[in-house]
Amino acid sequence: MLSDKRKILYFNEEGYKILENYLLNQVESIKNTFILVDHNTNIHCLPILLSHEKFLEKSNIIQIKPGEKEKNIYTCIQIWKNLENFKANRNSLIINLGGGVITDIGGFVASVFKRGVRFINIPTTLLGMVDASIGYKTGVNLESIKNEIGSFYSPEFLIIDPHFLKTLPEKEFISGKAEMFKHGLIADEKFWIDMKTSTIPMDDHRKSYFQWGDLIHKSILIKNKIVEKDPKEKGLRKILNFGHTIGHALESYFMNYKKGKLIHGVAIAMGMVSESWLSYKVNGLFMNSYQEIKSILSELYPIKNISDLEMNKIFSIMEHDKKNDKNKIQFSLLKKIGTCSYNCQVSYNLIKESFLQI
Ligand code: NAD
Repeated sequence: MLSDKRKILYFNEEGYKILENYLLNQVESIKNTFILVDHNTNIHCLPILLSHEKFLEKSNIIQIKPGEKEKNIYTCIQIWKNLENFKANRNSLIINLGGGVITDIGGFVASVFKRGVRFINIPTTLLGMVDASIGYKTGVNLESIKNEIGSFYSPEFLIIDPHFLKTLPEKEFISGKAEMFKHGLIADEKFWIDMKTSTIPMDDHRKSYFQWGDLIHKSILIKNKIVEKDPKEKGLRKILNFGHTIGHALESYFMNYKKGKLIHGVAIAMGMVSESWLSYKVNGLFMNSYQEIKSILSELYPIKNISDLEMNKIFSIMEHDKKNDKNKIQFSLLKKIGTCSYNCQVSYNLIKESFLQI
């Protein structure tokens, strides 16, 4: 069920206590427990979870390969077969321990296995914590179409534990951080200020991961508040797409036409700069706010220039974005820092011009 106002978000020790009580109280109704991991979270994160929850030692571990290309229906089939072999039934529980790929695929697997089994999300990447595991969306890609097959399905609850970040590679960390900046820009000016003035050393999060707890907590609450108001993305939830219309197109362009991949966080930072400029042109954002956003993000992210030739290719990728209605490109644009509108239509020429403002 979506948005039934149950508390489902728990942080650190409280989360582990809730999980322990849940497992103890439901011992009759949970017949067997499965932990879904990828190769990396099996090595780095499973030992942390098991050190907190001895009860889970007898769980069945299902491991998949890491990475976005595994987020497809064939991996689901592999997981469903494993569940079947281990005699999973409607009373089984799946614990998704990993980044957004694991929580997306594990949530989807759970939502349709035997018409729905219970699952718990324990995100282990920053992006998983502040974004992917929050908000009931589960799913897999259909070849190159992202998240084309999926469902809205709620976990029993989530546990957020920044200790997992200790082993996270830097490029994964900066992707999550971009989404945190976005949360401030679209819905909470104070949080934007907190992020931009944070004195936590940004150079090596593996040493400073424990200092991120408070900002992670605030960021999650911002996204959670938005999805609680509009769980199925009929309106308000679209503001979470700010920076992503151009950001995703840039990511696909670099994946398809350039040898090097563009890190998700860098693509989203570039998307937020160009869409801030569009916000200034068509949605009343002050010029100095656009300049501030550009200066903060370009200081933190290695933002690239886009040539004329590249623009045309990127534009055609955007035209295929499934979020568009009636062949017009829809944007979520800032009104001011902390306030965002959705369903804003922007002309071809302005979009092209916005690439020059990155
Ligand atoms: P990911 O799950 O691929 O994880 C990134 C890498 O980090 C992987 O190699 C993983 O094995 C590794 N890893 C994970 N935790 C680790 C740890 N603690 N220590 C060391 N390595 C670790 O990627 P992601 O960025 O977390 O998630 C991206 C996915 O999230 C995309 O598929 C995207 O579509 C999805 N997403 C979903 C939603 C949603 O609302 N459902 C929102 C945003 C993004």
